[in-house]
Amino acid sequence: MYYKGIALCICPILNYCCHCGEKVVFRVPEGDNLPRYLCEACGAIHYLNPRLIVGTLPEWEDRILLCKRAIEPRRGFWTLPAGFMENGETAEQAALRETLEEANARVELSGLFTLLSVPHVDQVHLFYRAQLLDLDFSAGPESLEVALFKEADIPWKDLAFRTVSTTLQHYLKDRSSGNFVFRTGELKVHG
Ligand SMILES: [Zn+2]
Repeated sequence: MYYKGIALCICPILNYCCHCGEKVVFRVPEGDNLPRYLCEACGAIHYLNPRLIVGTLPEWEDRILLCKRAIEPRRGFWTLPAGFMENGETAEQAALRETLEEANARVELSGLFTLLSVPHVDQVHLFYRAQLLDLDFSAGPESLEVALFKEADIPWKDLAFRTVSTTLQHYLKDRSSGNFVFRTGELKVHG
């Protein structure tokens, strides 16, 4: 994957040892039960674990803020503001940062709403409910457009990711019942 001509590596494959530079092999280490990337030159074991994608569902009265993606994957499709959590930050900080970066929007978090495992791509997606603090939002560098949508106007066929559509479906259901409930679940590969 490329962004502005720079290769973005998010692939779960390791070729070389980051300790000694030798090629690694992929096998089950002694005392373990899953294959890992092993360096037979220096003995290092390189563990690769799922990534966290963290975002918000920003609300303003009866409307929800969505961003049209300016980058791949799913360029041109609508999403909730979200992105990869960085080392050294909390999940809440990641949610606020991504909302600011993608939508130039300031929000107040009001609790974790969905935690969705996506094991076939080794990801976990977390979305917080959030209240927009003002209407002074705009498209950040990773967005083509940012807009508020009423329920009837949500572009369901043009949503970028199933974790986003699932989160929106839970939100709208809970909003109509007046009782928001934290949801956790798993998204499987399309059949
Ligand atoms: Zn090594």
